Amino acid sequence: MSISAVMPTYARTDLVFERGQGAMMYTADGRSFLDFGAGVAVNALGHAHPHLVAALKAQAEKLWHTSNLYRVAGQEKLAERLVANSFADSVFFCNSGAEAMEGVVKMARRYHQAQGEANKYRVITARNAFHGRTLAMISAGGQEKHLDGFAPNVDGFDHVAFGNLNETRAAITPQTAAVVVEPIQGEGGILPGDLEYMKGLRAMADEFGLLLIFDEVQTGMGRTGKLFAYEWSDITPDAMAVAKGLGGGFPVGACLVTEAVAKVMKPGTHGSTFGGNPLAMAAANAVMDVVLEPGFLPHVRMIADYLWPKLTAVVAKHPKVFELVRGKGLMIGLKCKVPNTEVIARFIDHGLLTVGAADNTVRLLPPLIITEAEVDAAIGIIDRAAASLAP
Ligand SMILES: *Cc1c(COP(=O)(O)O)cnc(C)c1O
Repeated sequence: MSISAVMPTYARTDLVFERGQGAMMYTADGRSFLDFGAGVAVNALGHAHPHLVAALKAQAEKLWHTSNLYRVAGQEKLAERLVANSFADSVFFCNSGAEAMEGVVKMARRYHQAQGEANKYRVITARNAFHGRTLAMISAGGQEKHLDGFAPNVDGFDHVAFGNLNETRAAITPQTAAVVVEPIQGEGGILPGDLEYMKGLRAMADEFGLLLIFDEVQTGMGRTGKLFAYEWSDITPDAMAVAKGLGGGFPVGACLVTEAVAKVMKPGTHGSTFGGNPLAMAAANAVMDVVLEPGFLPHVRMIADYLWPKLTAVVAKHPKVFELVRGKGLMIGLKCKVPNTEVIARFIDHGLLTVGAADNTVRLLPPLIITEAEVDAAIGIIDRAAASLAP
C-alpha cells in the first residue's frame, strides 16, 4: 500500500515533538525550538503550564464526561466569566472553531426565522476569510483552494472585499441575515480591519436589522493584547465565535451571543455530545484563571510593545527577504519577498517555529507568556535566518 495510515491532508514538516516547556518545544532526538507558532495560536499559555497541568490532572481523576443531559458546573463557571468579560449574555460550548462559527451562523438564521422572516438567511462574508473546514464554513470562507472538489457549495454566503464598506452595503438584500468578519484576518495573512471598518459594519448592521458576527477564533483570548480584539474598537458584535486559545491546547470552542440572539435557542435547537465536557471546562477555566489575572493582559501589551520595534528594525534590515510586518499585539504577520515556505524552513533550521499564511506571509503567534529574553532570541534567529536567505 502506498497510502499513509494517517490521511495525507497536511504538508507536514518532518519533526516529531516529545515535550514542551513554556515557549520551548523539544523533539525526541534532542532538538529544541522556540515556539512562535503556539500550535496556531492555541497554546496561549505555552506548554506544560503548571496551573493548566494541575487543573487537568485534578479533573481527570474526578470526571471526564457527562454529556449535556445534565448540568455541568465548569460550563456555568466559564460561561459566567465569559459573559462578565465580554459583550455577551449567553454562551454555547462546542469543540472547535469551525463548529463555533457554524453555531453562530445557525443562530443568526434562527434569530430572523423566529421573527417570521424565513427569507432572511444569507450571510455576507469577506473574501480571503477563513472560518473553518466544515461544508458550510468552506462556503463562508469562499476560498477556491478550500472549496475545490467539494461542490456543490453550501448556499447562503455572499462575498465582498474585506475592509470595503461600500461593497458590503451594496451586497445587502432583503435576504441578508448577518455580516461575518474576522477583526484581523488570520489565515488570510494577518490583515487587520481598521476601526472605521468595524464601526461602519456596526452602523450598517443596525440600519438594516442584520446581526454583526465576529470570528474571534484566532484573535480572541488575549492574542491582540485585549481579551477580545473587538475591544480595541468602541463597538460590540451581536455574536462571536471563540476557540483556539480558549482551552490552551484542549479542544474547545464557544459561541458568545447577546440575549436577543440566545433567547431563540430553545432546548433541542442545537447541541453537541462533547461540547463543554468537564475535562474541557477544567482546561478552559484554568486558562481563564491566568488570563484574567490583573497583570496578564498588560503583560501581553507590554511584551508586544517590546517586540514590535525590534521586529520592524529586523524587517527593515532585510529588504530583499521581508516586505513588511503587520498585525496587532502578538498576532503578527511578516509579508515576505522570498517564498514564505523557504523562510519558515530556514527559521526551523535556526530553531524557531512559525506558521504560514496566505499572501506569502509568515505568522508569528508566540505564547502570550513569552519573556523579553525569548523575544530577543527570536529576533536574533529571524536576523540570522534572513541574512542566510538574502539573494
Ligand atoms: C482556526 C480558525 C477557524 C477554524 O477553527 P478549527 O478549530 O480549526 O475548526 C475559524 N476561524 C478562524 C478565524 C480561525 O483562525
